Amino acid sequence: LEKEMLRLERLNLVGEMAAGISHEVRNPMTTIRGFLQLLSGKEECAHYKGYYNLMIEELDRANSIITEFLSLGRNKETKLKMQNLNDIITTLLPLIQADAMRMDKYIETQLNAVPDLMLNDKELRQLILNLTRNGLEAMPQSGVVTISTYTTGQGVCLEVQDQGKGMSPEVIEKLGTPFFTTKDQGTGLGMAVCYGIAARHNARIGVTSGTGGTTFIVRFPAG
Ligand code: ADP
Ligand code: MG
Repeated sequence: LEKEMLRLERLNLVGEMAAGISHEVRNPMTTIRGFLQLLSGKEECAHYKGYYNLMIEELDRANSIITEFLSLGRNKETKLKMQNLNDIITTLLPLIQADAMRMDKYIETQLNAVPDLMLNDKELRQLILNLTRNGLEAMPQSGVVTISTYTTGQGVCLEVQDQGKGMSPEVIEKLGTPFFTTKDQGTGLGMAVCYGIAARHNARIGVTSGTGGTTFIVRFPAG
């Protein structure tokens, strides 16, 4: 529990800073993007079209990092409404399947009947997406990521299980620290966002990891 508190404190601090600067950074980025797009359509620039497209892509990447970062903010209002976790997963599935297919990997689901919960669907989609992407990225070759839902005496569980390389205790310890990543192209924001979303739903994230893979369990309290 103490570890979890520390994690959340770290998150709040970074989240506040993030919200403060990202607006200011985004406006000039929008301007730059507009002019790049304009230039890339000009005939005299045709020779450099590849460069323009690359610049636009990189700007978009930076922008999506800011978006991820913004969702760390604790002051952002999270509107919750009674809905079913299985419905959220089902609507997200095509996107996740496409992700998996691109990587030659598979998604399986085991959705058991679960009671409706007070949820923010946008945030839940982000949470499931982040956990699933990590699962897919953790498997060097092919493999299956299984998304399951079920109820226990304590409440409703959402489980994301992969057959990947697992995590060392040191990595598990650092999960949720903004910018902590072991990947070349990682942002290190996915898990921080997950912990924030879970906290806003009074949910807990548990993790078990070994050589056979990793399992994340998000536990939503009953009622
Ligand atoms: P990123 O995916 O951009 O690296 P995350 O916050 O999503 O950032 O994850 C942080 C780190 O946690 C990853 O770089 C990886 O080392 C580790 N990690 C997260 N999920 C898994 C998983 N399912 N299997 C193995 N390692 C994981
Ligand atoms: Mg990630």
